Amino acid sequence: MSTSASARDHIPEIMRDLRRRYLPKGDLRDGNTALAKISTATEDPFRVLVGTILSQRTRDEMTEKATDQIFAAYADARALADADPADVERLIRPVGFYRQKAPQIQRVSRILVERYGGRVPSTYEELMALPQVGSKTANCVLVYGFGVPRIPVDTHVHRVSNRLGLVTAKTPEKTEAALMAAVPRRYWLAVNELFIEFGKDVCRPIRPRCEACSFRPFCWYFRTYVRRQAWWERRVRQAARATPPARGSKGQAGSSAR
Ligand code: SF4
Repeated sequence: MSTSASARDHIPEIMRDLRRRYLPKGDLRDGNTALAKISTATEDPFRVLVGTILSQRTRDEMTEKATDQIFAAYADARALADADPADVERLIRPVGFYRQKAPQIQRVSRILVERYGGRVPSTYEELMALPQVGSKTANCVLVYGFGVPRIPVDTHVHRVSNRLGLVTAKTPEKTEAALMAAVPRRYWLAVNELFIEFGKDVCRPIRPRCEACSFRPFCWYFRTYVRRQAWWERRVRQAARATPPARGSKGQAGSSAR
């Protein structure tokens, strides 16, 4: 695992720029992700935990819809622990993999009732001890549920961090460790929110909008792939213009005159 000194030198600038775009008031609760909205609306770590489980491999709109539906019927861990499994499935059907997620939510709810009186624990270790709660879920609950600085890493955060060159890591788990080592702690709370928004808006999975991105001068991906590709495309176009048209080819003669 290695890091790029170049991108690291620009962390304050990256964070300032992204904050200006996606959190202009500087408050995570103004964020646009499903978890930021759940956190703002409810200030309830349990709802953030359930929202995080629901959000896996699902679009934000579906997460919000399923979260609203399930909590309209079952207000807390105690109610969900005793709920009819078929009803829980029905209520979270807007999200993918609802058949797996429904029993997972109920299992977690029962353990919270048995061990914590229905409350969500606020340490990373305790959260990780819950069934099927991984590092990303634990960190999301800490950030959005308790305001504890951590860096949850989903596919957007993983992609943006690696493209910029802040880290060089093959998996989100490795990116999480590398990012927390590279990024000063004072920025941790906002990284997930900002990188997700940036990853959907500009640094998209396919065809990133590099032409609209102010991070080009120090972005590893742009310097390594995009700029090189643009250079090659220019060379190919120049070569095509310089090549004399084949005899009798009207179409080529026309195009060489452009
Ligand atoms: S320059 Fe392109 S690849 Fe780099 S961060 Fe910006 S959009 Fe992403």
